[in-house]
Amino acid sequence: MVHNVIIIGSGPAGYTAALYNARASLEPVVFAGFQPGGQLMITTDVENYPGFPDGIMGPEIMDLFRKQAERFGAQIHDQMVDRVDFSGKPLKVWTDDGVEHQAKTVIIATGASAKWIGLPGEVKFGGFGVSACATCDGFFFRNKVVAVVGGGDTAMEEAHSLTRHASKVYLIHRRGEFRASKVMQDRVMKDPKIEIIWNAAVTDIHGSEDPHKVTGLELTDTKTFEKSELQVDGLFVAIGHKPNSDLFKEVLDMDEVGYLLVEPGTTKTKIPGVFAAGDVADPIYRQAVTAAGSGCAAAIDAERYLGVAYDNY
Ligand code: NAP
Repeated sequence: MVHNVIIIGSGPAGYTAALYNARASLEPVVFAGFQPGGQLMITTDVENYPGFPDGIMGPEIMDLFRKQAERFGAQIHDQMVDRVDFSGKPLKVWTDDGVEHQAKTVIIATGASAKWIGLPGEVKFGGFGVSACATCDGFFFRNKVVAVVGGGDTAMEEAHSLTRHASKVYLIHRRGEFRASKVMQDRVMKDPKIEIIWNAAVTDIHGSEDPHKVTGLELTDTKTFEKSELQVDGLFVAIGHKPNSDLFKEVLDMDEVGYLLVEPGTTKTKIPGVFAAGDVADPIYRQAVTAAGSGCAAAIDAERYLGVAYDNY
């Protein structure tokens, strides 16, 4: 069977595309991945999504997105896509169970993932004191001392949310000023549990073998290159994200970081019938609401393409 639309990804972009295409009776199929819902699943309060004046929890809003798309008939499968072939028509994608799926259009909404510093200790102590998700792991640091690395909104959010659990939170940033929005910076600066360490890079992670856990960090001053030790029980890395576009290397055009390139003002990739929406194609805004908006645009682009390229979908 050749589907009208296959949507890869299940963040705000993927679910919004599914909602629009389902309401257009295109019976979209969504491959949502192993951890459906995208980055908001590991966010606490979402305070800037319009329509929720009191804020809403990330997982809760994604559950609502999913239910709304399902209500109109979107078929959502919690499966990964691990191969694509866009060289001919129909377009082909393979899920991780080896099954081939065919479609007239594909909307790519695979989002972005947390970046790591690149220290061996991140791998060694991953899940044992090193994390990129305060919402997921903050609870394990009740009355402990933790550090957050980064100077953007994510780092502010992580530091703030960790104060609910930890006795002290160090916020380590490589420069002397944050790039985070002012409102989020202010909240962090006012918090008595948060101590900011400026101009410092985490250059090593120390830990014990038995029990397997983090015990401290080596910091290097980015101006004087002096090294120092900081005792912590946990490290939260919040230094940005990279687009999840590896699957489309050599298939679609992307910039040097990996963001998919689309025709300006549209969601069209260089391959007719293949569209990209959300963070995977957005190096600039990267907000839930802009991702949802571009998911809507991709659904409309796909619908129009079907109307023109196929007489009767
Ligand atoms: P970001 O804005 O790209 O910030 C990344 C931070 O990590 C920067 O401060 C950067 O330092 C630092 N950094 C990067 N690589 C590093 C390395 N190797 N070692 C140490 N530090 C490093 O990323 P983000 O905070 O994840 O935010 C991404 C987007 O999502 C933004 O548009 C943000 O507004 C949005 N967001 C919004 C909310 C919200 O409004 N609720 C929450 C989270 C994210 P430099 O400053 O020196 O470059």
